[in-house]
Amino acid sequence: MSEAFNAFVIDAVDGKVTSGLKQMTTADLPDEPILVEVAYSALNFKDGLALTGAAPIAQRTPMVGGIDLAGAIVESASSEWRPGDKVVINGWGLSQQHWGGYSQLQRVRPEWLIRVPDAFSLKQAMAIGTAGYTAMLCVLALERSGVKPGREVLVTGAAGGVGSVAVALLAKLGHTVIASTGRAETHDYLRGLGASGFIDRSSLGSPGAPVQGERWAGAIDTVAGHSLANALAQTAYGGTVAACGLASSRDLPGSILPFILRAVSLIGVDSEMAPRAAREEAWLRLATDLDPGKLDEMTAVEPMSKLPELASRILAGNIRGRTVIDVKA
Ligand code: NDP
Repeated sequence: MSEAFNAFVIDAVDGKVTSGLKQMTTADLPDEPILVEVAYSALNFKDGLALTGAAPIAQRTPMVGGIDLAGAIVESASSEWRPGDKVVINGWGLSQQHWGGYSQLQRVRPEWLIRVPDAFSLKQAMAIGTAGYTAMLCVLALERSGVKPGREVLVTGAAGGVGSVAVALLAKLGHTVIASTGRAETHDYLRGLGASGFIDRSSLGSPGAPVQGERWAGAIDTVAGHSLANALAQTAYGGTVAACGLASSRDLPGSILPFILRAVSLIGVDSEMAPRAAREEAWLRLATDLDPGKLDEMTAVEPMSKLPELASRILAGNIRGRTVIDVKA
């Protein structure tokens, strides 16, 4: 396969990150055992950091961006995978140490691959992407910790990618979901995904008392900072907060009191290096617990040429729901 194809490449010129479309051939790709024809990638918060250079994500350049990909295998030197298999990759250092999904073809390692569940098209697999699979990891963390439908559950950064999928999943599972958002114009959208009520981002995002009225059975936090400290302070006795994000801050300006007075648990969630069994469990549960209609409602599809603008918008908190990147458009 010597024809040229497009990839979106992160580069560094005089220490400044640049990124743009480049043509390459399979001879340019890394020496990995599986060749995938990528159909779609996605836009995640981390992609925004990588493409703009707001954080040093790409650890060498040139680096093909995109922490997610979904596509069909073209060539396989692994006995586990065959040409035609539909696969998804989330994380594993894509766009960081390894070339990622913003490319019409990519060579990858067999151990990174997850089979796309029959319930989803390749486009839907990327509508889920790292954000959606992380939302499922958070829901599984709450479940394992004993959070059951009844009392309210809080989702912060609710109109973002992780937040939108978390709202849809929790509502489908019977929870009463309260969405924290800074964008009142997203209330109808979030209600459509299953939110029962709202809290303005600013009320959670200001310093609060170390323990407050017991409200939440559990919470999924994507923003950290005072929001996470307040979520912990408002969690009911024995409840659990799953923390996965830092959209507002990397700090946790809180108190030990919710842990030692109310037996609250704080569980960290990582998608990047999560073991394969955890990923397979999450994707199986997404296939049963995420309504494909709700997923389509939260998804926009964009071409790779719009990535620079989209990267700035996601860092500014201006993307609603999920953005799929059509690498062939
Ligand atoms: P999005 O940009 O799609 O969503 C983030 C949301 O956070 C925004 O939509 C906004 O929601 C809210 N927000 C943005 N800026 C601020 C701010 N300054 N203060 C408070 N809230 C803010 O990103 P994702 O959903 O893809 O990711 C969310 C977070 O989770 C990111 O920090 C990301 O790095 C992290 N993440 C971590 C993963 C892991 O493995 N641990 C995997 C995936 C993501 P609203 O408008 O509703 O207020």
